[in-house]
Amino acid sequence: MRRTETRRQVREYVAERDGARCHYCRTPFPDLSGATLDHYIPYSLWPMSKPRNLVLACDPCNNAKADALPLALAWLLLRTVDQALYAPAA
Ligand SMILES: [Zn+2]
Repeated sequence: MRRTETRRQVREYVAERDGARCHYCRTPFPDLSGATLDHYIPYSLWPMSKPRNLVLACDPCNNAKADALPLALAWLLLRTVDQALYAPAA
């Protein structure tokens, strides 16, 4: 995110990219004032605020997600750990 970009501009950019709806529950936003920017990978794990790590979320979804990992990412990480633990030694 460039310093000159406001959160409103970032919301507009993300809405253009993903559609003006909540990334999680798919509720459409009639205007973007009700949309929040959510770090797809929690900021506490990956402090990156570039638009590629941001999605639009409604308030309830953003609050419910908090610092949780997206399910798809958690699954990938678990799979990687699982393979590392159980792969036969070379
Ligand atoms: Zn939602």
